[in-house]
Amino acid sequence: MFKYLRGAIGLTKAQLGVGLAEPRIHQLRFHRCSTCPQIYEAPMNTPFYARFGPWACRSCGCLVKAKVRLRSERCPLGYW
Ligand code: SF4
Repeated sequence: MFKYLRGAIGLTKAQLGVGLAEPRIHQLRFHRCSTCPQIYEAPMNTPFYARFGPWACRSCGCLVKAKVRLRSERCPLGYW
């Protein structure tokens, strides 16, 4: 339950542009995620999908393009 609440708060912050890391950090993180075996194309259709989809992380369940934008986020496997 806490995981989903945290995810919803994170998506909202990313959507509103609150608590963002620097754009260069987004790029470095996303580059790392894009070569990670945990990334997959999520079969979903949500309001966030158009902006942040379709890439999600198997390890944490987050939409990767939203996750990499938030300053407070960390890779659950320690890659960034
Ligand atoms: S957040 Fe970490 S584990 Fe998830 S896809 Fe990115 S690099 Fe991989």
